[in-house]
Amino acid sequence: MPTVAYIWSPTLQKAADALPANLNRSSLVHGLAQSLDLLQVGVAEPLRAVLLPPDPSLATAEELKRYHSPAYVGSEGSDASDSSDGPPPTKRLRSEKHGFEHDCPAFPLLHEYSLQVAAATLTACRLLARGQADITINWDGGRHHALRSRASGFCYVADIVLGIMLLTREGKAGPEIPRIRPLRPRVLYLDFDLHYGDGVALAFHSPTSQLKAKPPQVLTLSVHHSAPAFFPPPSPLSLLPSATTTSPFTLSIPLLAYPSRATYAAIFPSVERIYQAYKPDYVVLQLGADGLPGDPIGQWGNWSTHGEGSMLWVAEKVKGWGVPLCVLGGGGYKNADTARAWAGVTAAMVGRDIGDDVPHHEHFAEYAPSFTLGVEEGKVKDENTTEYITAINERFKALSDRIATIVNA
Ligand SMILES: [Zn+2]
Repeated sequence: MPTVAYIWSPTLQKAADALPANLNRSSLVHGLAQSLDLLQVGVAEPLRAVLLPPDPSLATAEELKRYHSPAYVGSEGSDASDSSDGPPPTKRLRSEKHGFEHDCPAFPLLHEYSLQVAAATLTACRLLARGQADITINWDGGRHHALRSRASGFCYVADIVLGIMLLTREGKAGPEIPRIRPLRPRVLYLDFDLHYGDGVALAFHSPTSQLKAKPPQVLTLSVHHSAPAFFPPPSPLSLLPSATTTSPFTLSIPLLAYPSRATYAAIFPSVERIYQAYKPDYVVLQLGADGLPGDPIGQWGNWSTHGEGSMLWVAEKVKGWGVPLCVLGGGGYKNADTARAWAGVTAAMVGRDIGDDVPHHEHFAEYAPSFTLGVEEGKVKDENTTEYITAINERFKALSDRIATIVNA
C-alpha cells in the first residue's frame, strides 16, 4: 500500500478559507476528510493519510520568486488595503497591473494565502522528490491560472508551477532512490479542471524548435471544456493540437459542452498513451471539481464522482501507474460537492471504502438534503460525439508516437 501524505495545517485552512472565490471551502473539504477518519497525525498507517503541515521554510517570498516576478510578490503583500476611500491612485494602478481586480480582488490574507498555498504544494512535491511519500495531496493547491506577474481566474499563486519546478530541480535526489536519470527527472502534469490550465501550460511551454537532443522535463496535458465564451479565451495551445504541432509537450484535450464520465472514459486512452510515451518520473494531477454538474462557475460540466470515467476512476487510474503522484485541488464552487469529490479521491488514494453516507460532523448540515457522498451526473445531453472523441484519440495516437520518438532518441 503506498504511503500517502495529506498537507494541512490550521494556518493553511484559515488562509484558504479567506479566498474570495472559495470562501470557507477549505473547512468543508478538510472537515469531511477528517470526519471520515481518513487522516492520521504522526506516522503513516494503512488506510489513512498522514497529516503534515506545509514546511514553514518553504513559505517565503524567496520561494515565490523562483517563478513569480519580484514586483508581483511585493505587490500581493501590500494591496489589501481596505480604506473607505479606496487605495491611492498609484497603488490602484499597480494593483490593476497585477490583476487584482474583477475576479481576483486583493483580500486581507492574500500574502499569507499565497505563502501557505505555495508552501503546501512545495512540501507535497518535496516529499515525493525525497522518496518520503508515494502520493501527496494538497486540496488547497492547484491554482492553474496564476501567471508569473499577474493574478487570473481566481488564482493568485502559481503553486503548481513552483511544485513542478521543485520536482525538476530536486527530484530523484533522495539517497534511497536509484539515480535513473540524475538531475533530469520528467514530470507529467495532468489537469482535469473544467477550465484550461493556461498558467501551467504557459510556464513550461517549449516548442520543438527549441528542443535539443533531450525531451523537456515537463509535459502538460489539460483536459477541459473549450468554447468561445468560456474562460480562459481559447488560444492555439488550448485547442486540439495538430499531429505536426511544434508544441507536442504542451497538450490539450478540449471537450464540447457537458462532458459526462462516458466522455472522460472514452478519451482516457489518449491520456494513457501520452503517459506511456513520455515515461514520467512524477505525475502532478490537478483535480478541479468545477466539471461536476450544477457548478455555478463551471456551468458546462456534467462529470460525476463515481463509476467508470468519473473523477475517482481517473484518480484510481493515475494512481495505478505507480509513479510518485502529487494530487492537487483547483476549481470547485459548490463547496459541498467539491468536498464530496475530494474526500472520495482521498479515500481512493489510501485504498479505503468509505460507503456513501456523510458522517455527523461540524459541517453536516451543508450536505443536505441527500447527506450522501456521491455526486451524480445530471440529465443534460453530453455534446461530445463519438466522431469527435475518435478524432481526439486518433490525433493523440500520432502525438504519442512523436513523443516516444523524442523520448527514446
Ligand atoms: Zn476551473
